[in-house]
Amino acid sequence: MLRLQNIHTYYGNIQALKDVTIDIEEGEIVTLIGANGAGKTTTLMSICGITPPRKGEIAFKGSHIHKLKPEEIVKLGICQVPEGRRIFPDMTIVENLEMGAFLRNDKAAIKSDLDMVFDLFPILEQRRSQLGGTLSGGEQQMLAISRALMARPRLLLLDEPSLGLAPLIIQQIFEIIKKINKENGTTIFLVEQNANQALKLADRGYVMENGRITLVDKASDLLANDEVRKAYLGL
Ligand code: ATP
Repeated sequence: MLRLQNIHTYYGNIQALKDVTIDIEEGEIVTLIGANGAGKTTTLMSICGITPPRKGEIAFKGSHIHKLKPEEIVKLGICQVPEGRRIFPDMTIVENLEMGAFLRNDKAAIKSDLDMVFDLFPILEQRRSQLGGTLSGGEQQMLAISRALMARPRLLLLDEPSLGLAPLIIQQIFEIIKKINKENGTTIFLVEQNANQALKLADRGYVMENGRITLVDKASDLLANDEVRKAYLGL
């Protein structure tokens, strides 16, 4: 479904991604793990067209997307939930969700998608008129995921959804991610520092170090890999 082929991404003269190749099949949950500053967020930004690669190619369903604008990429069905949530604090929950459907004009389907996200996260329906900025961290993460779902993505990119959340909330969020994958058939690319949880959820995983992919395997095999256990699982 998505192929990053030998991509190199820079911030000015600083090279953040070096020869990165990643494949994601339709229907999979794939995770990208790595330490702080490894290049995980840059990988997502490269897919979304925010920091396009200077070299290499990105293809989605067989068509090149690395020269498209971010809004064109969203229209193709790729949507990102950025790190730190970035919801609109002065808008209500419903208004935040409507912003997720900004590029759509199929009103009836938007209404049914609103019901779908309220089914996934009943707390958001209970608080539908509350301002986004007054929600807890976990609720803001739920809102950020829901807002992305309102764009009807085929591929959902999640940047550290567990960051700063309590263990119980993390578990809840990860269960919902699994449900979105299984029930909506949405393909998931999950960037995480919480390697243990991410590998338990994913089908396959990539490990990134200093801008390079150093390992790729089935998630269960990465969980059992001694190097990964030492470096990322603290075992
Ligand atoms: P984190 O978990 O901290 O978000 P990460 O794995 O997502 O880390 P990136 O944020 O992709 O890593 O950063 C990769 C490299 O690019 C780092 O060396 C970082 O300092 C650098 N970098 C990131 N954003 C910028 C920027 N806007 N300008 C210059 N360098 C940047």
